[in-house]
Amino acid sequence: MSRNIVCYQMVAPGKPLERADRELAAPGAGELLVEVAGCGICHTDLSFLSGQVRTNRPLPLVLGHEVSGTVVEAGSGCDSWVGQAVIVPAVLPCGDCALCKGGRANACRSQKMPGNDIDGGFATHMLVPARSAVRVGGAIEGHELWELAVVADAVTTPYQAAVRAGLRPGDVAVFVGLGGVGGFGVQIASALGATVFGVDVDSEKLRRLASHGLFRGFDARELDARAVKAELVKECKQRGLPALGWKIFETSGTTAGQETAFSLLTHTGTLAIVGFTGEKVTLRLSNLMALDATAFGNWGCDPAHYPAALELLRAGKVTARPFVRRYRLDQVNEAIEAVSSHQISERPVLVP
Ligand SMILES: [Zn+2]
Ligand SMILES: [Zn+2]
Repeated sequence: MSRNIVCYQMVAPGKPLERADRELAAPGAGELLVEVAGCGICHTDLSFLSGQVRTNRPLPLVLGHEVSGTVVEAGSGCDSWVGQAVIVPAVLPCGDCALCKGGRANACRSQKMPGNDIDGGFATHMLVPARSAVRVGGAIEGHELWELAVVADAVTTPYQAAVRAGLRPGDVAVFVGLGGVGGFGVQIASALGATVFGVDVDSEKLRRLASHGLFRGFDARELDARAVKAELVKECKQRGLPALGWKIFETSGTTAGQETAFSLLTHTGTLAIVGFTGEKVTLRLSNLMALDATAFGNWGCDPAHYPAALELLRAGKVTARPFVRRYRLDQVNEAIEAVSSHQISERPVLVP
C-alpha cells in the first residue's frame, strides 16, 4: 500500500532544505520500504548543498546516503526482509555488470547512490533495492539502530580503503584528516592490528581518538608535513615499528591534506585517496616511481564488506556512540549549519 512520508528535499544550491509531505508508492518487486532510524550528514551532502558538486538526479531531491532503519514493507520476493534492521549502503551496485561480478561492485557504473541518484534518507521512509541492503543481524551492544547509520559511509568507506591497502597487523597507518571517515578509519586500522597515527587541525579530535585507537596524533597547526614525517620516523625507530611501507590514508578532502599525505609516503608505501576536494594540487608524481609506492582512490564500499565492518562494532573494536550526535529530522537545517560551521566535531545523525 502507498504511504504518507515526510522528507526534507534540496530545491536549489545555497537554499535550506524544504519539508515535503509525499505519498510513497508501495515497494515493487525486489524493493524494500525502510523506516529510517537514522541518517548521517556527510561532507558530500554539504558539497551538494553548496553547489560545489551537482547531484546526478535533478532537483528537488531528498539528500542523505548514510541510513539505518527497519524494513516495514517488502515487494514480491523479499518477504524475509520484513521486520529486519538494515543498513542502506551509500553505494547500491547493480549486481549484474562486469565490475559487480569482478569484485569491484562499489565502482559499478549503474550504481545508485541514495541522496544523489535516488531519494535519500533525510526522510521518515525510503525505498531501497533489496539486493544491496545489509541486515544488521541482531542488536549491537552499546548502540541503538540510529547510531549505526554511520556504518553506511563513515565506517565502511575507510574499511574498504584499509582492505584495499592490504592493511595487516604490525603495519603503520597514518590518517590525514580525522573527521567522520578518518576518525572511524583510525578505529578500524587499530582493530585490524596497525599502529595508527593521525594528523588534524582540530586538537579536540586528536584528543578524543586517543582512547579509540590513535597511537599518536599530530596537530597540523603546530607541525608542517616535514616535521610530522620526522616525528613519525623517530617514533617508528624508537618503538621498533616499520620504517618503510607505511599505509597513508587521505581522509581530509583538502589540498593541504593531500599534499601532507603525499609527502608522508615512504619506500614501498601506499597512499589511499579517500576524501574529496574539487581543488587541484601540484605533486611530483615521480615520487611514486622512485619510492616504488602505490597510490589508489577509494569510492564508497562494496556492500559485501558491510558484514565484516559490522562485526568490528559487534566485537566492541569499533564504537560509533562517542562520535555521533543526535538531531531530530526537523532540525536538519540546524544540523547542517552546525557541521558546516565546525560547531560540532561529531557526525550529526538525523532521527525522524
Ligand atoms: Zn558520504
Ligand atoms: Zn554493476
